[in-house]
Amino acid sequence: MICENLSILSWRSQRLGGLFFQSFFTNADVNQAVESARKAYQTWRKIPAPTRAEYIFRVGELLLQHKEELAQFISREMGKPLTEARGDIQEGIDCAFYSAGEGRRLFGQTTPSEMPNKFAMTVRTPIGVCALITPWNFPIAIPCWKAMPALVCGNTVILKPAEETPACATKLVEIFALSGLPDGVFNLVHGVGEEVGKALVEHPDVNLVSFTGSSETGSQVGEICGRTHKRVCLEMGGKNAQIVMEDADLELALDGAIWGAFGTTGQRCTATSRLILHHDIKAKFTKMLCDRTSKLRLGAGYNVDTEIAAIINQRQLERVCKYMDIARAEGANILIGGEIAAEGNLKDGYFFKPTILDNVTPQMRVAREEIFGPVVALMEVKSFEDAIAIINDTNYGLSSSIYTRDINKAFVAMRDIEAGITYINGPTIGAEVHLPFGGVKQTGNGHREAGSAAIDTFTEWKTVYVDF
Ligand code: NAD
Repeated sequence: MICENLSILSWRSQRLGGLFFQSFFTNADVNQAVESARKAYQTWRKIPAPTRAEYIFRVGELLLQHKEELAQFISREMGKPLTEARGDIQEGIDCAFYSAGEGRRLFGQTTPSEMPNKFAMTVRTPIGVCALITPWNFPIAIPCWKAMPALVCGNTVILKPAEETPACATKLVEIFALSGLPDGVFNLVHGVGEEVGKALVEHPDVNLVSFTGSSETGSQVGEICGRTHKRVCLEMGGKNAQIVMEDADLELALDGAIWGAFGTTGQRCTATSRLILHHDIKAKFTKMLCDRTSKLRLGAGYNVDTEIAAIINQRQLERVCKYMDIARAEGANILIGGEIAAEGNLKDGYFFKPTILDNVTPQMRVAREEIFGPVVALMEVKSFEDAIAIINDTNYGLSSSIYTRDINKAFVAMRDIEAGITYINGPTIGAEVHLPFGGVKQTGNGHREAGSAAIDTFTEWKTVYVDF
């Protein structure tokens, strides 16, 4: 984070476009937010879905209109490069227009009944009050991915954004307010996760919790929801890998590895943190990778020529440093990077040099634990079968990738890799909003965001029998 002094207090109780939106800061305020969402739900759920969708369409138009201003905000508060910040907002825009279309596609089914003179059908109904708990790494896209389908489905929402990016969240809520959304439909609570977030998860009038963040926090959230019978959608950590086979287009695989590993300073749930390289190309590919990595330009996200920006905060920087000690102690080789970057202006931010670890074996902690920084571990394999075994040898299962020209290997990889997403000849990053997003194993609990899968998350099925 470059700019630490953004004040959010000026947004508290601000009147926008004739509507009243409050920022809640304490546990007591959580009750007020839930009450506001519960009250608004009674009218919002009865508004026809295509009409609800029109509000979200307007949010999309407003995001488009304010894209540059918001991108500057993201870059200054969260730190990512401007090009990536624009991408973050574009995902929100795409999600708005896609979700708005879903307002006309909340289809149920008609089915034959076993009985004469009886008609049977299913309809989708909203769930109620949804708590949306989000991380800092995509401060616009992730709240949009959750809020937009939730609202189109007829739910009301309370957003609890990460402590690190309150200004981005507040800006986003201002945009929702400008769309003309009725009072209480979209609520915002700022605050410390362990206090305000937890209070929200425990609140008896919250019906669904959609959480994106670390596996550690997600497990706690999941436990509470299990105990309190709430629907819970967990999107958590990753330890994603890219395989490069001996027949791969190495230039293409290099591009994928560079942006997969170091894009967003490695702070993506889908970041490439393991590179599984076939023995025959390992030496050549490693040299190519080190050459490109050494040329990456570090700097403040809001400088137009920055390729790799700062790490989010001191705590996360220390965590990445700690993993360097672990890597050394475990016998990994630091080929490039491995230390804080503090030359010139870089000393003013939490910069860490893009890092390549070699001689990494599957049991090492750096091969198993999510580091969430610009660090990639190289692992060598002698066969395709070994590559598949190693890519699956992880507790996580979000994204994965393989570079090969062999269509048979590509299809086997598609079938056998244990992950929610597999890219063939593409990096582990780059989700599209009309496709399901989420992971298996300890990355998620089976729910998916984005695409029509989000509608399953934010609606209940009701079965209706009609005798005539
Ligand atoms: P985090 O778990 O620390 O925080 C996430 C959110 O949870 C924040 O809003 C925080 O305030 C809140 N929170 C913290 N403790 C809480 C509690 N006890 N009860 C309720 N809420 C609580 O995660 P982070 O550091 O903000 O984000 C980084 C993590 O997010 C990484 O592990 C990354 O992989 C993951 N992530 C996953 C996805 C995905 O889709 N799978 C996407 C982005 C990020």
